[in-house]
Amino acid sequence: MSHSFKALHLAESQIAELDLQLLRRRLRATESACDTKSTVDGRELKAFCSNDYLGLANHPALIAALAEGAKRYGVGSGASHLISGHSVAHELLEKKLASFQSQHIPQARALFFSTGYLANLTAITGLVRLAPSGQASIYSAKLNHASLIDGVRLAGAQNKASVTLFDHTQLDSLTESLKNDQKPFKLIVTDGVFSMDGDLAPAKALLQIAEQYDALLLIDDAHGFGVLGKQGHGILEQDNLNSERLIYIGTLGKAAGVSGAFICAHDSFIEWLIQKGRPYIYSTATPPAIAHTLLTSLELIEGEEGQNRRTHLRQLIEIWKKEMVFAQWEKSFSSTPIQPVILGSNANALLAAKLLDEAGYWIPAIRPPTVPDGSARLRITFSANHTVDDLRQLIHQLKQIEQTSMVQAS
Ligand SMILES: *Cc1c(COP(=O)(O)O)cnc(C)c1O
Repeated sequence: MSHSFKALHLAESQIAELDLQLLRRRLRATESACDTKSTVDGRELKAFCSNDYLGLANHPALIAALAEGAKRYGVGSGASHLISGHSVAHELLEKKLASFQSQHIPQARALFFSTGYLANLTAITGLVRLAPSGQASIYSAKLNHASLIDGVRLAGAQNKASVTLFDHTQLDSLTESLKNDQKPFKLIVTDGVFSMDGDLAPAKALLQIAEQYDALLLIDDAHGFGVLGKQGHGILEQDNLNSERLIYIGTLGKAAGVSGAFICAHDSFIEWLIQKGRPYIYSTATPPAIAHTLLTSLELIEGEEGQNRRTHLRQLIEIWKKEMVFAQWEKSFSSTPIQPVILGSNANALLAAKLLDEAGYWIPAIRPPTVPDGSARLRITFSANHTVDDLRQLIHQLKQIEQTSMVQAS
């Protein structure tokens, strides 16, 4: 009986508390492939919420590559990379991923992971172990993704690394803290594109600071890889950076349209992570067919099709910036496909999302702890598969909801 079973009682009362605070999250199962239209509960919704920025998740060439990969390599990898799960498909993919960053990281080598979450945990905890316990400092941007935050926390717990948060729009305090830091090992950690606001890290300035104070700079480019730079190589290409101090993380389930992630860094850092990166060592290798599929995805990203898709995406962003004018809601001016409309309270964001749903749109409300308290929002994302018409209809719909609903920006 639930009253005599404490853990169950706790679970039920905590969930009820989340309900009261309008913080309960709900799963919605889609019946269709990830694309600009999505079928949910038998209804077709216009989706502006995925991270499939280039519209590759349902691309025929990738579907064919996955089938071919499964025929050649089977379905499961069978073991972790260091036992017997490492395939030539992984090897080829890692070579190609390293070549994407070779202009930016001397002796670049890449290491493939099943998820970005795992890549971030591995990179941060593993690199910090280069220093003796208590001898590392980590500087982490306040609005970093949860997987970076968790990596930093774990490194703090495992290796007694000291942790300092910084505001990425205001680097003076970061410089000030580094100036007084006598620790032999320093790691600066930042999102490349901040995932809930869409703004870019000041990567160039951060690299200068890293160089001045002998730190490593880890950039998680989950939302930049495939999107930024002429060839889609990401933020290092866009900002034309080059340094041995760069630790680059890219994810492959967003713009690349498939699944997985990678760390790219100087060969010696990667070799160290293979030796000591626990989440890497103790996890089964991703199916080789996925790596095989990603080879095709990288060709698309780098080639003419990718360039055309990025050009179209930029056009959508320009139209949004120009034509999305609210009477009272505020929108940010992001230069990326992530466009937040910050509505403040959870109730406001939920109501706006509900009205959009009734109008046939899928744009979920993003609430704390994903975003800071009081900054609940709609997070609108564009895909290269959206047409200009799709976007203009969305703009029209949003204006209408703003004017006719009681949703006030707070
Ligand atoms: C999505 C995301 C991740 C996690 O990547 P997964 O492959 O989805 O695990 C890491 N960092 C950022 C900034 C992200 O947006």
